[in-house]
Amino acid sequence: MKRQLALAAAMMMGVSSIAACGNGSAAATTAAATTAAESAAEETKAEEVKKPETFHGEDVWLPYDEKLEKKKDDRDATGTKGAVAACSWYASKAGLEVLQKGGNAFDAAAATAYALGVVEPYFSGLGGGGFMTLYDAKTKEVKVIDFRETAPAAATPEMWLGEDGKVKNYTPDGADPTTAAAPASQYGGQSVAVPGEVAGMEFLLEKYGSDKVTRNDIFQGAIDLAKDGYVVGATFKEELDENYNLIHAMPDLSKIYLNDLELAYEIGDHISNPDLAKTLEAIRDGGKDAFYKGEIAQKMVDATKKYGGVMTMEDLANYTVKEREPVKGTYKDYTIYSLPPASSGGTHLCEILNILENADMKSLEINSPEYVHLFSEAFKIAFADRAKYMADTDFVDVPLKQLTSKDYAKSRWSQIDPEKSGAYEAVPSDELEHYATTSFSVIDEEGNMVACTKTVNYGFGSKIVPEGTGFVLNDEMDDFSPDPKSTNCVAGGKRPLSSMSPSIVLYPDGKPFLTIGTPGATRIFPTIAQVVQRMIDYDMDIQDAIDCARIYDNSSKKVCYESDGVKPVTAETVAKLQEMGHEVTDKGAWQLFFGGVQGIEIKKDGTLRGGADPRRDGKALAY
Ligand code: GLU
Repeated sequence: MKRQLALAAAMMMGVSSIAACGNGSAAATTAAATTAAESAAEETKAEEVKKPETFHGEDVWLPYDEKLEKKKDDRDATGTKGAVAACSWYASKAGLEVLQKGGNAFDAAAATAYALGVVEPYFSGLGGGGFMTLYDAKTKEVKVIDFRETAPAAATPEMWLGEDGKVKNYTPDGADPTTAAAPASQYGGQSVAVPGEVAGMEFLLEKYGSDKVTRNDIFQGAIDLAKDGYVVGATFKEELDENYNLIHAMPDLSKIYLNDLELAYEIGDHISNPDLAKTLEAIRDGGKDAFYKGEIAQKMVDATKKYGGVMTMEDLANYTVKEREPVKGTYKDYTIYSLPPASSGGTHLCEILNILENADMKSLEINSPEYVHLFSEAFKIAFADRAKYMADTDFVDVPLKQLTSKDYAKSRWSQIDPEKSGAYEAVPSDELEHYATTSFSVIDEEGNMVACTKTVNYGFGSKIVPEGTGFVLNDEMDDFSPDPKSTNCVAGGKRPLSSMSPSIVLYPDGKPFLTIGTPGATRIFPTIAQVVQRMIDYDMDIQDAIDCARIYDNSSKKVCYESDGVKPVTAETVAKLQEMGHEVTDKGAWQLFFGGVQGIEIKKDGTLRGGADPRRDGKALAY
């Protein structure tokens, strides 16, 4: 607490940020540690207030205000040549610098991705995977790069199940099972799928990179951040607190992200990760093989095995990126390109917008009872279809054409009662409350566009750091269903079902309009649907559309909503929804639960408008 007050006071005096240089934290996460934290704060206070933080010669933009609360404004940016919108100012800057040096959007995307892995290690990184939707200005084609993590060959549907048929809990050897326990699909070695991020970025650079910047230019931002450190923001702190007990039981992870292996760092503290800098240098110099073969790969295999996993050197050497055709849909003559399976996101985004096209959405007020009701019904239909059909199309047939067709949407629309909440083919709720993953967008001067969403799944993934590498291995295996009969069941080489939906939208005349994406687990495609509908139907600026309160419903007859913030769901609306038979859950305002949208809009006059979500630490930059 004292440290927080010192920080706030220093900020009011005009100091933009304060570094504790990895040795000063204040409040402890546990009661037992509080006294130690207080005295640590006292000891280091003089050192803390010594300098404002800079990165590559510029004052760091901080995502929190003098009360250490997330800023609600100053997230957007306007430019004419290029823009990057990421969930961290540092990463946006690393990407923008590559654009300013002459690199294209694809070079800048790799720089942004690697920097995000350093400053948001809980959301994504070298040990994770993801998807990218890209628009190539030369060919005017949209492609999807699928660098999703993949199940190790030896993974089986039964590996996590106890005698009762449920997923067992995992506790690392020697740790306390009363505090350090989580499902084996989320924690420890059996939760780890073969990472895809490095292969994805190498594929991107090789096929789409400009060759106008060096590999050093692309990696420099990330390497400097890992070496020199960065300031802990409000979301970082939330993730540390949320995962504290599980992190604490993992020494290689605690070494980096707990102060003296015990205390969660505080907002304004300074973290560096020299081991990660070395790993990034090895990838810069040795490319994909430096990660998937040899010493780093061996460390991943050893660490996974130590915590009960089955990933092998062969699994790593066999990892392949897949370039895919996007899913394509339209809303009011705007064309939407998004992800095909193994993400369900793009398909259901198109399905939801197709259903809503049957209503006169333009005439409805944002978050009025009718508006929330129609979104809620469309979401429930999409989730019913998701549970029935969706999985990796390399393993199962998915009726993609049907799910994205206007006729199918019309038949689904006819099932919606305008006055009553419907149940459809209700499936058990799988409401994931974790808030991991990150999303960013890039546009360059030539008009190339990138939307990328990437993840390690839960906060800090499996919590395994291969010794001396500085990066976290994912727990993406948890995105499979533990039910051996599910279409989305575990199989060696299969990619687990995702909700990610990085999307590219074109104007009715075919010119590029928008690159957008968000994290938020199953809230991802519902969130994108709301933001895109607002931008198209009400001609809203991207930042305004991001700021507006959101809702979510996942087929369990429960509308989750933001009751405060911009255009909130009001008490009157809630009363009307309840009359219609909706169950409701108030999630408050500016909630991580509803994702963290980053995107860039190209206005009709060519101006670039970057937007970033105040629900997380995002910041758009443009020039
Ligand atoms: N594992 C999740 C998915 O692929 C990550 C998305 C998220 O948590 O935001 O859908």
